[in-house]
Amino acid sequence: MTQRDWIEKDFYRELGVDSGASQDEIKKAYRKLARELHPDANPGDAQAEARFKSVSEAYGVLSDEKKRREYDETRAMFAGGGFPGGFPGGAGGFPSGGFPGGGQTFDMSDLFGNTGGAGPGLGDLLGGIFGGAGGRGTRASASRGQRGADVESELRIDFTQAVQGAEVPIRLSAPGRCQTCAGSGARPGTTPRQCPTCAGRGLVSRNEGAFAFSEPCPDCRGTGRIIDDPCPECGGDGVSTRTRSLTIRVPAGVDDGQKIKLAGQGEPGRGGAPAGDLYVKVHVTPHRVFGRSKDNPDDLVVTVPVTYPELVLGSTIDVPTLDGRVTLRIPAGTQSGRTFRVRGRGVQKRTGTPGNLLVTVNVAVPQRLDDAAQKALHEFAEATKGFDPRADVL
Ligand SMILES: [Zn+2]
Ligand SMILES: [Zn+2]
Repeated sequence: MTQRDWIEKDFYRELGVDSGASQDEIKKAYRKLARELHPDANPGDAQAEARFKSVSEAYGVLSDEKKRREYDETRAMFAGGGFPGGFPGGAGGFPSGGFPGGGQTFDMSDLFGNTGGAGPGLGDLLGGIFGGAGGRGTRASASRGQRGADVESELRIDFTQAVQGAEVPIRLSAPGRCQTCAGSGARPGTTPRQCPTCAGRGLVSRNEGAFAFSEPCPDCRGTGRIIDDPCPECGGDGVSTRTRSLTIRVPAGVDDGQKIKLAGQGEPGRGGAPAGDLYVKVHVTPHRVFGRSKDNPDDLVVTVPVTYPELVLGSTIDVPTLDGRVTLRIPAGTQSGRTFRVRGRGVQKRTGTPGNLLVTVNVAVPQRLDDAAQKALHEFAEATKGFDPRADVL
């Protein structure tokens, strides 16, 4: 595949993902499309077949981190990934077959010359590539109005908070526009000056025979500006890691590993585009005695030790719930291992029926008996000789 292919093809659009998509999202999008478009599923459909090829080609590049980076950089360098209708100027863009040759010179600065108009500003364009706008590596942030990247964070809560819900403050460090210099990179009160090497264009030309190549200006790293007195906060990047405090509302019944989405709390968007979302992954510290039912996570489970007489004779015992004790009546003749339901003492969601507490009783066997107890137990064994617990299994 030539560089020209890369410039003209929008692999992200092929796969229907945005340019900040994770490898997982890319893989998922590809699998879905590949299933739909696969020639076996669409016999004789030439259009589906062509789409299938394009989608596979897009996946081949985007699924490979190295190729994807090259692709992003190439596209950002040439057109910001989105000049409407292809390349401006020239005879409809590149003559087919590669880079322009012959009498025609193609100077990239032509593309960027009209920054006063609708085109993306040069600073924006190259700042995204060379300025290190933070975030995930070299996402080409060149196209205008790009939504901010999603941000992931983590949160640890205890079992009770997970069951009852909680409001938990977190501190989040993420890159954002530097607030000290408002993103200019210059110390407050000073302004960057125009780069004399490139006259503020951010690009310098290099002539090689018939070709005129433009490349980012080495003196200003393509920004067109020189900062004599960098902002002390961001060191001239215009981007700094900000620590924000947020309160996460954890809904009752959240499970370990679940993610809570906070719309619009991710990285700021570029060029007025909306911010990304924040995903907070919740880790729940297990409880000493309570657990969640595998069949219904709204039900809590607890195992309560009981004595043999309590089961045989029946009794009323105290059992723990997440908020205080309740009494549980055990009927005479209850088998060890039986589970009782205490209604409404499980997860209480804002809507719907509350979960229950499932109490399993288990006989605890004393390690030592004094003489009196031994004697009584032998007498008991003698008196219940007629009861054969293994009658059904032998
Ligand atoms: Zn700053
Ligand atoms: Zn320069």
